[in-house]
Amino acid sequence: MSFVVSIVFVVVAYHLASDLGEKFESRSLFLKAKEIANYVNREGIALDSSMEMKSFDSIFKEFGDDLIGFEIWNSDIHKVIKPTNQKIKPPELLLAVQNNVTKQGFVDGHENRIMWIYFSAPSSKTSVMLLVRAYALDMALSYVANRLFVTSFLTTWLAIWAALILSAIIAKQFEKNNEQLAHLANHDPLTGLPNRNFFYAHFKEFESRVRFKNRRGVSVRGTLLMIDLDKFKDINDSLGHNVGDEILVKLSQRLSKYLEKSEDTFVRYGGDEFVVWSEKKENLDSISLAKKILELCRKPIRIGKSFFEVGASIGLASYPDDGGCLDELVRNADVAMYRAKNLRLGYQVYQASRDKYSDLRIQLRGQLSSALADAQFVLHYQPKVRLPKEEIMGVECLVRWEHPQQGLLLPNNFIDLVEQSSLIHEFTRYIIERAIFQCKCWIDKGFPLCVAVNISHYNLNDPELVPFIKSRLVYYQVPAKYLEIELTESVTMVEISSVHSVFKKLNEIGVRISIDDFGTGISSLAYLKDLQVDYVKIDRSFIANLLCDESDEAMIKSILYLGENLNKTVVAEGVESKEQSLRLIELGCRFAQGYYYGKPLDIDSFNIAMGICDRSVLSS
Ligand code: C2E
Ligand code: CA
Ligand code: CA
Repeated sequence: MSFVVSIVFVVVAYHLASDLGEKFESRSLFLKAKEIANYVNREGIALDSSMEMKSFDSIFKEFGDDLIGFEIWNSDIHKVIKPTNQKIKPPELLLAVQNNVTKQGFVDGHENRIMWIYFSAPSSKTSVMLLVRAYALDMALSYVANRLFVTSFLTTWLAIWAALILSAIIAKQFEKNNEQLAHLANHDPLTGLPNRNFFYAHFKEFESRVRFKNRRGVSVRGTLLMIDLDKFKDINDSLGHNVGDEILVKLSQRLSKYLEKSEDTFVRYGGDEFVVWSEKKENLDSISLAKKILELCRKPIRIGKSFFEVGASIGLASYPDDGGCLDELVRNADVAMYRAKNLRLGYQVYQASRDKYSDLRIQLRGQLSSALADAQFVLHYQPKVRLPKEEIMGVECLVRWEHPQQGLLLPNNFIDLVEQSSLIHEFTRYIIERAIFQCKCWIDKGFPLCVAVNISHYNLNDPELVPFIKSRLVYYQVPAKYLEIELTESVTMVEISSVHSVFKKLNEIGVRISIDDFGTGISSLAYLKDLQVDYVKIDRSFIANLLCDESDEAMIKSILYLGENLNKTVVAEGVESKEQSLRLIELGCRFAQGYYYGKPLDIDSFNIAMGICDRSVLSS
């Protein structure tokens, strides 16, 4: 570019310089011709040629050999002082002579450029014709063009260097940007840890190393640890994503610090999922690594003034025994991790023999959303009775999944999957709507029954839950006192404040509240005092041993005593026999539920059992 610009610049400058030079040359020739004309006009033309030469001595001296032609006209005399080859004279000159008008110009001669003038003095009859060699172009060429060429060469040279330096800087910047992009693509922006992409690439590299080593007869091992945080969802939902993010950052820093000395790869695999990929380790080493990671995850994390205990569950799968490719390893570590989580075991090593069940769980997890959309979740109803006469006082709605392939699934097969998914709010609203609708049908048939719906503690974080309940009660015109919400006692510390606020709102609209599975949590007695609940359901584990275990009986007695004093209605759950029922009556229990009084039934069977007619309306 610079070279082209220089060439253009040189050409333009050369033309400007030569034009200027020629203008000066023509001007001085014009003045010279005028001076000669004035002189001839004044002095006349000497007839003697030596005189003549003398008179124009100065001209000969000035132009020397450059004078090519010189002619003078004075009145009728035409004197050729320096004869010119007629061929050199351009037609314009001949025309000017013929018309006797002043004219000047340039003509390219044989060897040189020639400048000519025909000057006709207007006030006299004197005319002068001069032809001289012109130098302006040559001078422009030698003085201007040469210098310009040198300058443009230097400019081009400098420009090339500048371009080289610039391109080096730009290339460096590009390289830096590329590196940043590659880093972004392979790392998690929140924690700075390598991400899933990085891990896939890393594993490919591992696989090629394995192929190479296997050819030499060396076997290579590796273990994948799938780490999933336990209470992260609770914290995220109740305290917001900022606190959740801070916890993730602090925990990943803590684990990175521990793992940095090892050759293990630590990856943020998803939201609250991390992976540790550990090569060369024996099984026992991997297990002790898992234990250490669990210990680090359980240590409280400080955010502001509060401490949070997150905890984790870990699944281990080994290469090549538990999977020959990454997908298989991840899947199997996932299966082991879910087993560890559900059974609260901390960590679990993958075992193919247990996998059939896990396969089903993974399959169910993937089908939750479509099951909800296709209304595969149905409610079964179990009566709650008033003792001693066993009159029905209400029903508990218990969800079942009418699975197209698996048949009827009980909640323990899928409730935890729903709770771990993002569908939990939608799911609960669906159940509540169906329960209120059913209640409305019973009221219309003259069998007003209070329906109890189980909610998950995750639902307490749904700000739309109470407004939704209110709107459905209004929509189906069901008085709020016919709806009861059951919440299991074992809620975590994090939720205490949300429990209070949701219970208060439910109380305000007149919905009844039950504390479910009472006696299984540790904080129960203390917090029952402050909670505005209507019912307390004694967990069925106490009822099961009522007749043979004195301590369980004592527990039931104290719950009944507590209920009386705190003005809460106590309901005994899981009553399976007449003996249990009679003993509960003796102990002063006024309300009960269990297989003895009635098993959970689908709506049609329930209506028949209860003698509620017009099934078509009720089951619609
Ligand atoms: P839960 O709230 O304690 O419900 C009572 C469970 O005990 C029911 O099991 C019921 O069938 C069973 N049961 C009732 N009487 C007896 C008895 O005499 N003996 C024995 N051994 N069991 C008895 P199910 O239906 O399998 O429900 C299990 C749990 O699933 C429920 O425990 C509840 O926590 C949860 N669940 C059920 N439906 C829903 C729902 O719609 N939403 C949510 N979030 N959880 C639900
Ligand atoms: Ca319940
Ligand atoms: Ca219960």
